[in-house]
Amino acid sequence: MTRMQARADSIRTSGHEPSPTPPAGMRSAVPQVQLDDDPALRAEILEAIADLAGRSAWTLGAEVDAFEAEFAAYCETEHAIGVSSGTDALALALRALGVGPGDEVVVPANSFIASAEAVTLVGATPRFADVDPFSANLTEETLAPALTPRTRAVIAVHLYGRTVDMAPIVALARAAGARVIEDACQAHGARYRGRRVGGLGDVAAFSFYPAKNLGAWGDGGAVTTDDPELADRIRLLRCHGERPRYQHRIVGTTARLDAIQAAVLRRKLPRLDAWNDARRAIARRLTAGLIGSFVSQPADAAPDGDHVYHQYVVTSSDRDGLRRHLSERGIATGVHYPVPIHRSRAYAAHRPGAPQLPVAERLAEQVCSLPMFPSMTARMVDRVLEAVQAYRPLGSVAS
Ligand SMILES: *Cc1c(COP(=O)(O)O)cnc(C)c1O
Repeated sequence: MTRMQARADSIRTSGHEPSPTPPAGMRSAVPQVQLDDDPALRAEILEAIADLAGRSAWTLGAEVDAFEAEFAAYCETEHAIGVSSGTDALALALRALGVGPGDEVVVPANSFIASAEAVTLVGATPRFADVDPFSANLTEETLAPALTPRTRAVIAVHLYGRTVDMAPIVALARAAGARVIEDACQAHGARYRGRRVGGLGDVAAFSFYPAKNLGAWGDGGAVTTDDPELADRIRLLRCHGERPRYQHRIVGTTARLDAIQAAVLRRKLPRLDAWNDARRAIARRLTAGLIGSFVSQPADAAPDGDHVYHQYVVTSSDRDGLRRHLSERGIATGVHYPVPIHRSRAYAAHRPGAPQLPVAERLAEQVCSLPMFPSMTARMVDRVLEAVQAYRPLGSVAS
């Protein structure tokens, strides 16, 4: 990789993985993600922020209350609580469930590290599960061997925006006495058996990191649940256990959603379903156009599930060669994720005696996220397809 290619791009994708920068002269070819490029949307958001500035309304308040009501209605859940990030949403959900030291929480090894960090942050221990080779998600089969008598919760990650087959996972977790947390940070708006993600387990976490399907202009997150007691505890925890002012009922933290971010999210939420439809349409064109190429297409939605294509992830046995080939043609790509969580340095302590998780380990070597964002044009899709079709993996016979 050249020095220029190794330089980090200014837009980071959801996995916090910098894309290689295309060679000079091709900088604006096809980015991996492109955010909020609609001038009408930008103007609406700036107006809302100016209004907040006029009122010095920065923390919680009416804008956050309104967003919470709108997001709960969107997710078809009783409650939504705005918080400071997806990681905090997961950690607060765990704390509200009473998960702590001595407890184990099952986390798929093929996810963004935050899915595990939240468990560690509350003093519990992540137990890493492998994932299904077809869907790249946790399944009943990969969950079962990770359950122990100490399992208190299971985190089901709707990775890349593809819904997990929740029913068998909830049944298995219930039988083991464990609660179910959805990590819906990549799947805003997806449906499973008619219901939105966010309402499929006991409690769910969303991230509004800018590159997510619903992104803020900075960090933000939300917890959704139908359980009024959990919702109440999370409201207390996100703001110092305070109710009313300076009456601290429990030890909490600072993990509130900013009013500015709520204002941004309120302007974007009404557009989310159309953006997800655009992502699905782009994915259909990519999948059709990749037939006959040397890469494997991602699994489409299951018949009773959904896919909102937060990422469009192909696999190749020569992934790094594929990325170099695409980069030379001005096409930026990402890797979600290059190291499975249980092999990361941060979780080195978990490695001795750690189970072999062969699917997560193989995926980390083979996955490549192609460009995917709602405003991706037909011309951009064609450029990506032409470039991938021209790719020949190492050791293949030239045609
Ligand atoms: C982005 C993400 C998170 C963390 O969200 P932040 O808002 O960045 O803290 C957690 N889990 C998954 C699967 C994510 O993609």
